[in-house]
Amino acid sequence: SNPSSKQIRQAFLDFFASKGHQVVASSSLVPHGDPTLLFTNAGMNQFKDVFLGFDKRAYTRAASSQKCVRAGGKHNDLENVGYTARHHTFFEMLGNFSFGDYFKRDAITFAWELLTQVYALPKERLMVTVYAEDDEAYDIWHQEIGVPADKIVRIGDNKGARYASDNFWMMGDTGPCGPCTEIFYDHGAHIPGGPPGSPDEDGDRFIEIWNNVFMQFNRDEAGVMHPLPKPSVDTGMGLERISAVLQGVHANYEIDLFQALIKAAARETNTADLDSPSLKVLADHIRACSFLIADGVIAGNEGRGYVLRRIIRRAIRHGYKLGARAAFFHKLVADLVLEMGEAYPELVRNQARIVEVLKQEEDRFFETIENGMQILETELASKPAIFNGDLAFKLHDTFGFPLDLTADICRERGVTVDTAGFDAAMARQKEQARAAGKFKMALNLEYEGQATSFHGYEKLETPARVLALYKDG
Ligand code: ATP
Ligand code: MG
Ligand code: MG
Ligand code: MG
Repeated sequence: SNPSSKQIRQAFLDFFASKGHQVVASSSLVPHGDPTLLFTNAGMNQFKDVFLGFDKRAYTRAASSQKCVRAGGKHNDLENVGYTARHHTFFEMLGNFSFGDYFKRDAITFAWELLTQVYALPKERLMVTVYAEDDEAYDIWHQEIGVPADKIVRIGDNKGARYASDNFWMMGDTGPCGPCTEIFYDHGAHIPGGPPGSPDEDGDRFIEIWNNVFMQFNRDEAGVMHPLPKPSVDTGMGLERISAVLQGVHANYEIDLFQALIKAAARETNTADLDSPSLKVLADHIRACSFLIADGVIAGNEGRGYVLRRIIRRAIRHGYKLGARAAFFHKLVADLVLEMGEAYPELVRNQARIVEVLKQEEDRFFETIENGMQILETELASKPAIFNGDLAFKLHDTFGFPLDLTADICRERGVTVDTAGFDAAMARQKEQARAAGKFKMALNLEYEGQATSFHGYEKLETPARVLALYKDG
């Protein structure tokens, strides 16, 4: 029978332990003391200072299974969830690390040994990419490992493309970075999509399973690359993606762990069609929300808390779409704890609080979602070329629909939102609130505080000028 994701995780850690790696626990999703990072987005985050040479550990080789959230900041996959077979907001990244110990040759050899011997994957299904100028990595793959030339693709830094391969990895706009080599699995010709580097690589036939980064530089704010004290290795393999491969399924959502969550979501929303995309979104979002709350994120109107609230509201909307009219999402927590509580005891410890926070958020949003959805549906029924920005703002301000939620609903109907109009409406309201506040103070009335509820809208695409408006609000 197929290995479980639990066994796959353990096999990874055992393999690297046998190669002299210290197994290190996952760090929190909330990065400590790193203002450049919204959420932990890779296994290397907790070792950032070790790579930079500011911190030293008792070991030079480490391995981990790291909780990651990519729902904001440089690596943001929120908009991919439900649209690709391979992206989650929350996922587990298996990684091995070398701090000035081994470099390219050993990293590549370890990866190949694990994949083809321990996991016993057929070699002909694997493809690799290397950074365009990295002849050294190319030669190791080709001459030492024996990967045929037609299965090695050279790729440069492909900036700007949404999914397109990019073989220069950066944690953020600043920090450790370097060329990388990525390993792809071919799920078969029956699935649309071309090999990495080809024009139709956005398809999900060839799925990237593992990235091996050769950490060589520290990128500063001006974009200048400073060589690191010691060349190092940072790798990341998505547990859900390798589990899909090893369990003989294509999409991450078909693996053991997700099937249980999808069934739970179907149960709580009375959904008969287990293939409904909304169930996948719910299964994804219950993980992100629960883990974020367990790590101390508090739903709110700014920063990390607003990202959490936005994910919760997206989940509620999918439940609503399936027919839910009252709080249901928090009922998935117990199922998640059954699936993941053993590997992540913080879920068990915080279970009651997670349920309570979600329930509270749900009760609140269920008060306004019905009316908001009606307004939204009425507008969409008129088949607008572009969704009105003032209306999107009204939905945000009065009905608690974050802009990305409105945009997500519109996207399902092939409609885009006038975000410039949204920003202008928000700026106008902010101005009015300020004027009203001044007026009240002039009359020596008690100032009643916030006239508005929209602080610190946290979205990569939001223009800086709008963000600036909130900061002084
Ligand atoms: P992709 O190109 O598919 O978006 P990536 O190149 O952005 O992936 P990396 O930053 O290289 O991903 O992260 C290392 C590994 O983590 C990937 O090879 C993949 O297995 C996994 N991974 C990355 N993003 C996600 C995600 N959103 N959901 C699940 N697994 C992911
Ligand atoms: Mg990505
Ligand atoms: Mg990639
Ligand atoms: Mg990658």
